[in-house]
Amino acid sequence: MAGEPQDDCLFCKIVAGQVPATVVRETDTTVAFRDINPQAPTHVLVIPKAHYKDAAALAAAAPELAADVLRETQAVADEDKLDSYRIVFNTGSGAGQTVWHAHAHVLGGRGLEWPPG
Ligand code: 5GP
Ligand code: ZN
Repeated sequence: MAGEPQDDCLFCKIVAGQVPATVVRETDTTVAFRDINPQAPTHVLVIPKAHYKDAAALAAAAPELAADVLRETQAVADEDKLDSYRIVFNTGSGAGQTVWHAHAHVLGGRGLEWPPG
């Protein structure tokens, strides 16, 4: 069922505490933790606790939860004192998505080129 934990999902395991992560924020509906392979001084992943395969599925099935994720990106940026930052939702393998549980990358703390690669 949409939103239910998936046995084979790494981020569901992080939500369940079965895989360790450096958690920076947690709410009733979201978790934010540092990326294991950071691409910037701040590189935090914000995820819904419920499982949706990507941002589009999340927004379609649970728009209030999608809003929770977006709200948390700002909270992460505030905690790391970032005036400017980038939110990335890689969607599809061609765009670099490798974990099929919706997540927002929050990147900051260095110059960020536009357009991105
Ligand atoms: P994607 O490529 O799907 O947009 O992003 C997945 C992100 O998850 C990658 O940036 C990758 O470094 C990160 N990642 C993969 N495995 C782990 C892990 O076990 N712990 C943490 N904290 N991040 C992970
Ligand atoms: Zn999951």
